[in-house]
Amino acid sequence: MINLILFGPPGSGKGTQAAKLVEQFKLVHISTGDLFRYEMSNNTPLGLEAKAYMAKGALVPDSVTIGMLRNKVETHPDAAGFIFDGFPRTIPQAQALDALLAEKGTEVTGLLALHVDDEEIVQRIKLRGATSGRADDNDENIIRNRINVYKNETSPVFDYYALQGKSQSINGIGEIEEIFERLSAAITQLQ
Ligand code: AMP
Repeated sequence: MINLILFGPPGSGKGTQAAKLVEQFKLVHISTGDLFRYEMSNNTPLGLEAKAYMAKGALVPDSVTIGMLRNKVETHPDAAGFIFDGFPRTIPQAQALDALLAEKGTEVTGLLALHVDDEEIVQRIKLRGATSGRADDNDENIIRNRINVYKNETSPVFDYYALQGKSQSINGIGEIEEIFERLSAAITQLQ
């Protein structure tokens, strides 16, 4: 099994690249942001709970997020592997993921972190906001808050997996195809 964490700040291209990578490597893509948006659009209790946090650009509490992730993984018992996009975003989430995969007799294969500087991120997200319809993409203060949350709460996850020798940085600037080639080359090395 190959279990990848596609890591990086909001707007670094994780969703775009994950969609291409699952095709190439036949993996299941799990984006916790997409799962929350789906729950929100259906007005489920989980969606309603997540909504206030997402609107501020804050993280949804770990207990909620970890439970949702676990349920999603359980719906794919025959997966050849997963690409986790936007998860884990905290150390407790990383520990929960490690425990979940250990139960299945597997582990995180590698974490690939897309590097994009802050100003480029703000520009990219604003551009995306014009078509995504996402409230959190259309307010510069919220965008900057999401970047700060990434730096303060999420970036320690890179170090957590670096201690296991699993973290790699990938240049996230360039054409979509170019970045895809960088990621594909890194994944091929891991297989
Ligand atoms: P994303 O689509 O990954 O940018 O996520 C959008 C929003 O969903 C984030 O700003 C958070 O409010 C929430 N979210 C997504 N994934 C997580 C996670 N792993 N932990 C906590 N909150 C999350």
